[in-house]
Formats: sequence, C-alpha cells, structure tokens
Amino acid sequence: MTSYGGPVQKDKKLRQRDWSKKTKVWRNTEDTIHWFRMAYLFLSRGYKGYQPQHGPHKPYFTLEHYILSERAIKKQRRRAAGIQAHRAIRNWFQTGVLQERADWELVREALMWQALQHKFGVGTTITEDGINLLNTYPKITKIIEANIACENFWGACVCPNCNGQRGRNIYGEMLLSMRDQLIGAR
Ligand SMILES: [Zn+2]
Repeated sequence: MTSYGGPVQKDKKLRQRDWSKKTKVWRNTEDTIHWFRMAYLFLSRGYKGYQPQHGPHKPYFTLEHYILSERAIKKQRRRAAGIQAHRAIRNWFQTGVLQERADWELVREALMWQALQHKFGVGTTITEDGINLLNTYPKITKIIEANIACENFWGACVCPNCNGQRGRNIYGEMLLSMRDQLIGAR
C-alpha cells in the first residue's frame, strides 16, 4: 500500500463502495512497480525520515510530511510538520485547521521534484536511496503509485470507480525521471 491514505473523511465513502465489481488486479510485476512495499518501500512518500537541505534541522517524519508542511501557509508550516499521522494533516486542510497556500497548485510539482533531488541525490552526489533507485534499472520500466484512496494526481487510484483510468501518476513519473537523471550523471 502506498503512503497516501487519502483524507480521513473519505473513509466512509471507501467502505460504501461496491468492491464486488470486477477490477483489474494490480500487483508488482517483472517490469512494473505498483505498490511501494517490501524492497520498494524506500520509494514511498511515507518512507521514514526525510531531511531537506533547508528548513529545520530536525528531519521530517517522512517526505510526505515535508510536502504537506510546504502546502500550508508560511506561519503554519512548523505546526503542519509536527504530527506523526500525515492522514491527520491532510484532514486539517479540509477542516480549515491549516490553510493551503494560494499558489499551491502552481508550485507543488516543482517542490516535489526538489524534494526528490534531496532524497535521491543530484549530480554526482547520490544518496543510499538514490543507489536503490538506480538498482531498479533496467528491469523496471514503469513506476505507478497505485492507491485506493482516489488520489489521482500524484498516483493512480485502482478502486472500482477509478480503475486506474483517471490517475495522472505524477509522482511515479517523477521517480522514473529522477532515475534517468541519476543514470545520466553517473
Ligand atoms: Zn478511486
């Protein structure tokens, strides 16, 4: 299961969904990663420990915590990063506890890319996660952040309603681009 659990408010909807409808079976295959678990856990946005080059000296719980705290307006960022359950943080944006920055949709992809550069390395400085990512080459040709929480921007939801069709999978695509960049720099 991917790190992205989806907003808490959706849980009820999830339960009510008709799971008896036939959906494609998604699993990790020879050439495709769908779920960031086991050996691929390090690819997850919820993988423990993330230290960007800027910001507080204390590492974030996960990369997702960093992204979620950047999503908040400036004075709320420390608060957003301070709680362990990132599901709860996402919920705060819906209940109005946290205010989303006005330019979020314009900056989120650049922020994620920057975060991935810190996580995997940039240029000739490759981190341990970066080496693991490089090791997926050339076997893995596709990375999809599959989820069941109807998260179709960063990933692709595979619930009967979405069935993987609407997912833009930006995060999965970014991981592959990052790998290409690391290969180029080697
Ligand atoms: Zn869905």
